[in-house]
Amino acid sequence: MIQVEHIGKQYTNHHHTIHAVHDVSFSVAPNERVGIAGGSGSGKSTLLKLIAMLEKPTSGTLRLFGEDVTSIQNYRDIYRSMQMMFQNPLSIIPPRMNLEAFLLEPYINYGFMDMAAAKDDIRKWIQHVDLPKAIVQKYPHEVSGGQLQRVVLARIMLMHPKLVLFDEPTSALDAVNQKLVLDLLQKLHREQPFGYVFVSHDIGLLQAVTDRIIVMKDGHIVEIIESKRLKEAVHPYTKALVEASE
Ligand code: ADP
Ligand code: MG
Repeated sequence: MIQVEHIGKQYTNHHHTIHAVHDVSFSVAPNERVGIAGGSGSGKSTLLKLIAMLEKPTSGTLRLFGEDVTSIQNYRDIYRSMQMMFQNPLSIIPPRMNLEAFLLEPYINYGFMDMAAAKDDIRKWIQHVDLPKAIVQKYPHEVSGGQLQRVVLARIMLMHPKLVLFDEPTSALDAVNQKLVLDLLQKLHREQPFGYVFVSHDIGLLQAVTDRIIVMKDGHIVEIIESKRLKEAVHPYTKALVEASE
């Protein structure tokens, strides 16, 4: 579903070059759950933005759903199949838009249902992410961060994506809400399988929600390990991350 081959990204500011991602290769199979771990500045977000086509690589190739992204004709299909979720939901929900309007956007943009059917579908999804139906009449500042992330998850799922990219989606939440959102994500993945790439600085968290973990340090992959075998990690950096998350 994703094939990353020798991909690299350099940023140049004021004659100073930063190698954010350096010669990285891996692939993600359909419905696979892949984690990207690493400390702050290790290149995790840059790698995710390259996959999301929000940044252009300076070297290497990226294939999504079997197509080289440099030769893709139909971006619309890809943008529907590939969704993203970030740390701060307020960065993507406009402050003066109520949650129903936010949830209606994909139905309007892609025209896959009439308004009455879309509103019914939204009610179904809101209950499915364990929120009260009436919450859709509220504005983003009126609900908690954990509830907003569940609204964002509902909006992602109602599009039936093939691939979802998560960049620290629970890092701003308290431990209780973090667990609620992660448990919900696992429930949704079991019911309606999709592949995902989940970025986190917390390797212990990744172990609970992924099949495989890619460990990054200074823009390089230092180790790729099956999540259930994390205890058998050989690279000292991976071991340090495991210790830090215990
Ligand atoms: P992480 O998500 O693992 O914390 P990032 O991918 O955000 O790491 O950053 C990797 C490196 O690239 C860091 O040194 C960061 O300062 C740099 N970087 C990220 N984005 C930019 C940018 N837009 N311009 C310049 N440097 C950047
Ligand atoms: Mg980051």
